[in-house]
Amino acid sequence: MKKLSMQAYLAKNNENPTVMTLLKFIPPVEDCMLCLTVLELFQENSDIFALPVVNSGNIPLGIVDRKAFIENFIKPFSKEIFGKKKISDTHFMNKSSIIVDKGAAIDDVARIIIDAGMQHMVSGFIATDNEQYIGVANGLDLLNEITQRKQANLFYLAHYDQLTKLPNRLLFLDRLDMAIAESHRQKTQVGLLFVDLDNFKHFNDSMGHGFGDKVLMAVAARLTSCSRESDTVARLSGDEFTIMQEKTNCQDDMNILCDRILESMKQPFQIMGREVFITASIGTAICPNDDSESTGLLAKADAAMYEAKRSGRNTYRHYVPGMNLYSLDRMTLETDLRMALERNEFELFYQPQVELSTGKIVGNEALVRWRHPKRGLLSPIHFIEITEETGLIVPIGKWVLEQACRQHMIWIENGLEPMPVSVNISAMQFYQTEFCEMVRSIIIDSGMQPIYLELELTESLFMYDVDIVLKTLDELHKFGVKLAIDDFGTGYSNLSYLKRFPIDRLKIDQSFIRHLEREPVNIDIVRAIAALGKSMSLELVAEGVETDSELAMVQSSGCGSVQGYLYSKPLPADQLESWVKERNLNSVFEI
Ligand code: C2E
Ligand code: MG
Ligand code: MG
Repeated sequence: MKKLSMQAYLAKNNENPTVMTLLKFIPPVEDCMLCLTVLELFQENSDIFALPVVNSGNIPLGIVDRKAFIENFIKPFSKEIFGKKKISDTHFMNKSSIIVDKGAAIDDVARIIIDAGMQHMVSGFIATDNEQYIGVANGLDLLNEITQRKQANLFYLAHYDQLTKLPNRLLFLDRLDMAIAESHRQKTQVGLLFVDLDNFKHFNDSMGHGFGDKVLMAVAARLTSCSRESDTVARLSGDEFTIMQEKTNCQDDMNILCDRILESMKQPFQIMGREVFITASIGTAICPNDDSESTGLLAKADAAMYEAKRSGRNTYRHYVPGMNLYSLDRMTLETDLRMALERNEFELFYQPQVELSTGKIVGNEALVRWRHPKRGLLSPIHFIEITEETGLIVPIGKWVLEQACRQHMIWIENGLEPMPVSVNISAMQFYQTEFCEMVRSIIIDSGMQPIYLELELTESLFMYDVDIVLKTLDELHKFGVKLAIDDFGTGYSNLSYLKRFPIDRLKIDQSFIRHLEREPVNIDIVRAIAALGKSMSLELVAEGVETDSELAMVQSSGCGSVQGYLYSKPLPADQLESWVKERNLNSVFEI
């Protein structure tokens, strides 16, 4: 990402209130000022975390941190001893404060703060222009800023295929939804092509993945060149591509595009000095004739593509009713979900959390699974969203809580030490009026101690009514339940709630742990979050640690514990029990 200097940033955003907090002009104190006067300044302005000290030429000399300064004066006699001293003669003034020119890049400033051990996180640093003092910036705001910019980068990663640079499934479906909505208004049609390469596996297996990747890139380029500018070409997964034609007039438009694609594929591809031939099978479907909803339309184009394959490949077919639909549509899923609870089809898996300093298991997270009678074991990504949209999450979430608490007690009966269990809570559950009461009665009924239950909440929760959130969290906390922020760093970027709410732990989102080699900025973010957690006395868990190098990074950044495939995938209750018993035989934890 391009580096942004503080100056450019300030110029660009000078109307933006967060920027004003990023760089605040606070009238500096002169080095000859008496400590008692400095104390008064702090007492008068409760929102000033640090005071800059300058000499008579307005050149900054250092910073006085509010906490250290005031704490010292609370001690007996310090008013008498220090009160009449000049500020520059005392040890309160931190002369190794960070002073940066306004032309410095924001990322560089963040790195300087991180490298300096983060002690400037709260007190911040001084900005100068031509060596003259112009303001102080708060380290927390700076962290907010780099996290937000990182999110823009994450958006790209989440919406584009890295190999072909085409939109991915997520973005494609989003655009398809928009085009469909527009076509309803304009009474036009949307055409969808589902393109699947024939025998692509053959190239991958025989020539290696590097070769396969080059083939996919070349195909992507060719599909793009066959399409109009207004069409959207996307890579859905593997060797599956889709093309959306907006405002198409009739089936003829799609036939023309299909012919053009098949024709262009006849030309050999030059890959790594070789000439290769590839063909494709295409299925098409039209909105609203075939379906007026994106996933349904996709399923139909997919079914048509299978017909094209069945017809000997290297051809295209249009969807006709009666073709086999390979993916279950949402309606079916929703109907099945409504019955799943009474049919006892949900199960909980548990993933252990390991403390790095001792290697001990410090808890586990309960993760719901759905044993679907036809589709097998489904992970929450396939159904949690639907349960949230339909409200089914309320009864299902209650079952999860009951089951997790019951299991905690079963493990104790089976001879394990009491092990904290974390349960995910959706916003909709949290906002139920009886939520606290429900949690309390489930805990009491199970017989477990509240201290062993942790509720995982996401940051999005804090965007709603702060007073209600605060009241509920306080009540839960007073009862003894622990509270954690899940997927920390991906959501709401205003961190002020951390100070207000009784939070015990932060779970650093796995997107910051993954791909450290490709995304070195992640290391800084993890370190910054760890330092932030430490400064607020919060425990930290890194999620999704898969490799030794990720573990090493997490360890060096000062994060206390980890959860991830490197130690264990989520396991059924009995397997987790054996896992824990086996590990506990070894005093030192080994992977
Ligand atoms: P989460 O709470 O962030 O849970 C962590 C997810 O990361 C789990 O996915 C876990 O299997 C996965 N994971 C852990 N370590 C690794 C790793 O090293 N590599 C990779 N690639 N993944 C790892 P899972 O079980 O599929 O759950 C997905 C999400 O579904 C959860 O994310 C949570 O938001 C939601 N969820 C799960 N169970 C419940 C539930 O009972 N209630 C609610 N409301 N949401 C739930
Ligand atoms: Mg979680
Ligand atoms: Mg998480």
